[in-house]
Amino acid sequence: MRRIGIKSNIEKLGRNKAYPMFRFGPAGVPLRSKERSSLAGIQVTKELGLDAMELEFVHGCRLKDETASEIGQLAKKLDISLSCHASYYLNLLSPEPTTLKKTQAELARTAEVLELCGGKRIVFHSGFYLKRDHPSAYAAMKAQYKALAQTISDNGFNVVLAPEVTGKKSQFGSVEELYGLAQEIGYDKIQPAIDWGHVHARDNGALNTPDDVRRNLETVEKHVGKEGLRTLHCHIEGINFTEKGERNHLRITEGPPDYKMLLAVFKEFNCGGTLICESPAMEDDALILQKEWEKTQ
Ligand SMILES: [Zn+2]
Repeated sequence: MRRIGIKSNIEKLGRNKAYPMFRFGPAGVPLRSKERSSLAGIQVTKELGLDAMELEFVHGCRLKDETASEIGQLAKKLDISLSCHASYYLNLLSPEPTTLKKTQAELARTAEVLELCGGKRIVFHSGFYLKRDHPSAYAAMKAQYKALAQTISDNGFNVVLAPEVTGKKSQFGSVEELYGLAQEIGYDKIQPAIDWGHVHARDNGALNTPDDVRRNLETVEKHVGKEGLRTLHCHIEGINFTEKGERNHLRITEGPPDYKMLLAVFKEFNCGGTLICESPAMEDDALILQKEWEKTQ
């Protein structure tokens, strides 16, 4: 009896080792949820068989502490891992002291709320280069991330900053920049979010072949090692873009980058983590991604 138990455990471990796990979920309350609260959204996410959800605080984080705690309890009970997307109206490179202060305060409050929700990554858009050249923007951003990470650790929070790869050339946040900063500041504090549609749009259609995807994952590994590959936090959607970059999001079946190609390369690199779908049919597409991933195990 005992031997059989040990054997099946070994088999289990073997499988996990060969294929690290991805969690799949929608960017916000699933569209089919009649009740539009985060609590209802977590419940519907669970019923669909998904296991992650990104809380959308994109017009500002206004959740009360009490609601955030309730969200945390439900997510824990249903085993739905939570992340959040911070306000769209942030700019950590703003030359205006008031805008900068507002951005810092909004991110600090978002960190507090996500901590109460029991979530991990605060996904956010870092800001615009404006008149700065890239090296000076990088240096300024480093100081900003460091200060925010300090605030998080001073409060004893477990959340981490997840600056997102942005979809326009005018915005700070290439894969190289964000993972470079993660390496310099520490991957325990900065764990970037890769929006693959943005990677594609930022450079006017950058992801056409498996090699294009590989190059990006090699950048991740170069800066933060294999741990970075095992703990990816990604957004996936089809993308429509102009020469300036991202224009709008599409179904994963209706626009590049090819999601099957992405998943195949993730498998090749032994990637794991969280895949959040930001398409106009987010939960349906998250289910398509999950099915595709399981099919090719
Ligand atoms: Zn975003």
